[in-house]
Amino acid sequence: MADTFDLTVIGSGPGGYVAAIRAAQLGMKVAVVEKWPTFGGTCLNIGCIPSKALLHASELFEEAGHSFRTLGIDVSPQLNLKQMMVHKDETVTANVMGIEFLFKKNKITAFRGIGSIGAPGRVLVTPEKGQGQIIETRNIVIASGSVSVNLPGIEIDEEKVVTSTGALTLKEVPKRLLVIGAGIIGLELGSVWSRLGAKVTVVEFLDRIIPGADSEVARQMQRMLQKQGLEFKLSTKVKSIDKQEDGTLTARLEPAAGGDMELAEFDVALVAVGRKPFTEGLGLEIVGVALDERGRIRTDAHFKTSVEGIHAIGDVITGPMLAHKAEDEGIAVAEIIAGQAGHVNYGVIPSVMYTSPEVAWVGKSEDELKAEGVDYKVGKFPFTANGRAKAMLATLGFVKVLADVATDRVLGAQIVSKNAGEMIHEIAVLMEFSGSAEDLARTTHAHPTLSEAVREAALMCGDGAIHI
Ligand code: FAD
Ligand code: NAD
Repeated sequence: MADTFDLTVIGSGPGGYVAAIRAAQLGMKVAVVEKWPTFGGTCLNIGCIPSKALLHASELFEEAGHSFRTLGIDVSPQLNLKQMMVHKDETVTANVMGIEFLFKKNKITAFRGIGSIGAPGRVLVTPEKGQGQIIETRNIVIASGSVSVNLPGIEIDEEKVVTSTGALTLKEVPKRLLVIGAGIIGLELGSVWSRLGAKVTVVEFLDRIIPGADSEVARQMQRMLQKQGLEFKLSTKVKSIDKQEDGTLTARLEPAAGGDMELAEFDVALVAVGRKPFTEGLGLEIVGVALDERGRIRTDAHFKTSVEGIHAIGDVITGPMLAHKAEDEGIAVAEIIAGQAGHVNYGVIPSVMYTSPEVAWVGKSEDELKAEGVDYKVGKFPFTANGRAKAMLATLGFVKVLADVATDRVLGAQIVSKNAGEMIHEIAVLMEFSGSAEDLARTTHAHPTLSEAVREAALMCGDGAIHI
């Protein structure tokens, strides 16, 4: 009989592959089951990594056509979309091969095929071709991730009507792109195609963009994106999309609250209305793993499902659908299975939207603090007053630090700016140590850096900033 594994992980996305590596580091004999041809899950294959490759390339294309001239660089950029896609694909390949290397380095056994749980301690692997295999295992971690949500009556073909997956592989720049949903996927991928020349219309059901982000940030960001050419139709829903013979799409738009319908024509439509947990084929109903009302696997604070010996992490359980949240749960669950005290601090998980400027936030928003009745103070500093930002032509945006009035403890922060996604981490570290705005303000920040704006915002929570 084959050896028994200490842990079998189903799914090799950021949750699964990190859990496997951490468990191997802790001395466990680990197996991973993956149904796709490459490791890395949504994030590396069709999510974070390819989208950031296109965001980076399209941002430089846009800058080359606009701000380069001011910097004394005269160029006339020509778009080579085929090469941009090659760059994206090579980036994905390098990353997914990296996971293969890490599995080998950590002596993790990889099985290719659909993993289903026959009983606690038994995982059946069904490959696309050939014989299935049974893995005997002491523990199971489900990290099967999520898939795009579709809208009723709208058929996805991944060419004309696409999810994020199709939007990452368009063969030409659509003249008119309809984006349904002003969440992070809609705004990141809408930005990519807008920079490359598409007229982008974003239709959002709610009366605001980026739900979940601080509402002041969302308002300011909407204005900036409008200046970049994105058009927003808020409080509006898409009822249907009809494909004409010549390929034109006719979308029927209606006010969210009901009312007169409007017809609008597009070349491509991106459906970006959220993602849902993926549990198909896992055999959960057979072993009795319970789901919640939204189809997520129900877990306790230690990632245990309703069945002993079966844990779950990442997009398939509750919480924000973010790669780093899945990764941290992967580390924590491996440590818990090893008998250690694995833990994730959900109060300090940064979020980043990689538009231009970037939007990053951590901890509480002002809306949340107001709703909770917390007595808070706001320190805000604009990048127009930051020397480095002026030199980089990156004066759009601001830093907002939110601190408790009585204790000065930092409760949250929002940054809108170039590189906001890098800068947010000093506030995350500060919050992990329960630091105060004064701690941040008294920490020397190198000059000239964009990060000085973070310190100045912290100073604004006290006697005031120096440079404004
Ligand atoms: P996934 O990455 O979804 O991986 C699940 C894996 O399990 C897949 O490989 C799947 O094939 C496999 N699987 C499922 N069922 C089985 C089975 N029965 N047997 C075998 N294998 C199975 N997050 C960020 O933090 N930053 C970003 O910039 C970002 N950008 C994104 C951009 C896009 C376009 C999208 C779609 C998502 C983005 N995300 C981003 C979200 C991020 O991708 C997810 O939060 C993350 O991938 C979740 O990790 P996971 O391990 O839970 O699941
Ligand atoms: P989302 O939930 O962030 O946004 C979906 C948007 O669609 C919401 O604003 C919602 O109000 C709107 N919507 C829903 N139904 C609608 C309808 N019928 N008509 C019009 N609008 C409608 O989802 P997403 O942008 O698809 O992203 C999915 C997940 O992937 C999110 O959890 C996100 O955090 C994650 N993600 C993260 C990153 C990142 O961290 N940079 C990037 C991409 C995706």
